[in-house]
Amino acid sequence: MAHPWIADRALAFDSSGIRKVFELAAKMSDPINLSIGQPDFDVPDVGRDAAVNAIQSRKNAYSVTQGIAPLREALQKQVDAEWKHKDRQLFLTSGTSGALVLAMMTLVNPGDEVLIFDPYFVMYEPLVKLVGGTPVMIDTYPDFKIDLAKVRAAITPRTKLILLNTPANPTGYVANEAEVRGLAELAKEKNIALVSDEIYRLFCYDTPFVSPAKYNPDTIVIDGFSKSYGMTGWRIGWVHGPSAVIEQLIKLQQYTFVCAPQPLQWGALAAMDVDMSPHIAAYREKRDLIYNGLKSHYDVTKPGGAFYIFPKVPAGPWRDAGEFVAQAIERQLLIIPGQIFSRAATHFRISYAAENRTIERGIQVLQQLAG
Ligand code: PMP
Repeated sequence: MAHPWIADRALAFDSSGIRKVFELAAKMSDPINLSIGQPDFDVPDVGRDAAVNAIQSRKNAYSVTQGIAPLREALQKQVDAEWKHKDRQLFLTSGTSGALVLAMMTLVNPGDEVLIFDPYFVMYEPLVKLVGGTPVMIDTYPDFKIDLAKVRAAITPRTKLILLNTPANPTGYVANEAEVRGLAELAKEKNIALVSDEIYRLFCYDTPFVSPAKYNPDTIVIDGFSKSYGMTGWRIGWVHGPSAVIEQLIKLQQYTFVCAPQPLQWGALAAMDVDMSPHIAAYREKRDLIYNGLKSHYDVTKPGGAFYIFPKVPAGPWRDAGEFVAQAIERQLLIIPGQIFSRAATHFRISYAAENRTIERGIQVLQQLAG
């Protein structure tokens, strides 16, 4: 029984299943940990030094709500150079997650429907429900492609928002130009808000990243430093879009997160100029390592980006992904069952943001399990 003070909205969901695997990992002596959705590289030296210097030089107060001007201006310059949209405003948020919360609070009225591609990032469904919205899932199995006919069929007069995440967590799927363009144009045609979560945009291994903002200037883009600069604990993200929308998100930030942590904004500013492409190249190799290790044993789509792969659970004595993952965990391998990210319990997520040796050990266990 929950404590009598707890509100219904808090009771509406379980704690993230990923956290449960983390807790298990903490108790194991030498886990093969392929469960964590964060890079295995750290913040570049110049970023760490700049954050320490900011603290030592007493830049420890709140920043303005929108974030420190040099960082905001540097990011705005990049965005303006890329899109040349007349009206695209940007501000800094408390991680990409903070931007997602603000976007949901700003855009979704109770009863509004939000289209989400299944499998989806764990936060999307609870966030939609927290603001009273109705998540509407669009099934993308088996290859995780965006089927525009399905999207069109899912649209009703109540549809308010489409959430796109490419490269995607948990599948690693990278939507191609035709899919992104079609979705962007459909949102425009139907006057539906389009939120594009681009946190993995640097992690594209085969084809260049395409943002729907290229085809729909009203797209609200959410991005952050967590993954691309090994900065998950720093909580620095940003969001940009039409100023009439962004102004409202900024207003809500005043009453919620207040600002992103100031010293870490200075650190992020210094890190921004570091070339992260060697890390991306290393991750492409990790992608090849895991995919080549699994492809003849598993039904698996080759992922084009992010640092996840989402194979189908093979035939065996298990009834679903949960039971399969329990078997993997008995062999010290930590992976995440697909139902954490999906209505279906048929697949599982591997994060290959790990040392090659760990990936190789994981492949060994998975090959044994597939028989
Ligand atoms: N969106 C996606 C798709 C993610 O995978 C994550 C992190 N797992 C986030 C947003 C949140 O990132 P942040 O650390 O910037 O809040």
